[in-house]
Amino acid sequence: MTQDQVAVPAVTRETIHTVDDESFTPENVCIVTGAGSGIGQAVALTAAENGLTVAATDYNEAGLEETVELGETIGVSGSIEPIVGDLTVDDDIERIVAEAATHGSVKYLANIAGMQHIDAIEDFPMESYDRIHQIMLRAPIYLTKLCIPHFQKTNDGQGCVGNMASVHGHYVTSDKVAYNVSKFGLRGLTQSIAAEGDGEIRSFSVSTGYVKTPLVTDQLADTAQQRGISVDEVIEDVMLGQSRVKEMMDPVDVANLFVVGFSKLGRHLDGGDLLFDGGMTLTYE
Ligand code: NAD
Repeated sequence: MTQDQVAVPAVTRETIHTVDDESFTPENVCIVTGAGSGIGQAVALTAAENGLTVAATDYNEAGLEETVELGETIGVSGSIEPIVGDLTVDDDIERIVAEAATHGSVKYLANIAGMQHIDAIEDFPMESYDRIHQIMLRAPIYLTKLCIPHFQKTNDGQGCVGNMASVHGHYVTSDKVAYNVSKFGLRGLTQSIAAEGDGEIRSFSVSTGYVKTPLVTDQLADTAQQRGISVDEVIEDVMLGQSRVKEMMDPVDVANLFVVGFSKLGRHLDGGDLLFDGGMTLTYE
């Protein structure tokens, strides 16, 4: 069944990769946004299994509770501290960083929260544009700004920001203008952090094709309607048509890339993008 392709898989301890890294300790805190669902949830679990204390934030309180419970069920080694907050509200962004700092030394930031809106440019509601921009671009910039002084205060003065970009930060599909613009901008933020970080504060982005998460399942019907095609055709033609690997990624596959980026394996990954898109953007038939 085509739609089995998008069933959201559970994260298991066996699928999480760990890196033996001297900075992956309970003293060091990794802030993860969007931690109540999909890729953010997988990153929170994966960072915790790698021994970090995770400040898991989302505005979906129930989703965050699920992440904490999953951490306990799976038995991840680090703790997951939930912080409810809305990334469109500056006071919340400030509180998220301040609360995260009460759990240890803030050393890593994973900007993952996101949303989608499907409409042609001429119909695109500007309030949806502004909301997407705030969550997916402005909040990552403000969080970075607030985290840098904490990175500088860690025992080695180092820190790292991982940004969840997308193939839509390289090339674009129609009817997603706010998403496309935000992802291109996020790659600009990634490079800006690297430019100013002198190799001590690093940054990287992760660009994947489609990943099995609620964000994808929720846009199937709108995309089908907008294009006048079936949901199966959206999956097979729109989402996987360009990809040489005819299979969507699991959230934990993406989370493992964040671990590589944050760890010593990523020492020379600075401003760069991990393009894991199954050949989608660099090949054609
Ligand atoms: P998801 O919908 O499962 O998770 C997104 C999370 O962001 C949700 O928990 C949601 O509550 C949170 N969020 C949304 N608005 C928020 C706000 N105002 N304040 C705080 N939290 C908020 O989606 P996902 O697929 O896991 O997406 C995560 C990221 O990965 C997004 O940036 C998305 O663009 C990116 N991405 C996803 C795919 C994919 O195919 N799923 C591919 C490439 C990139």
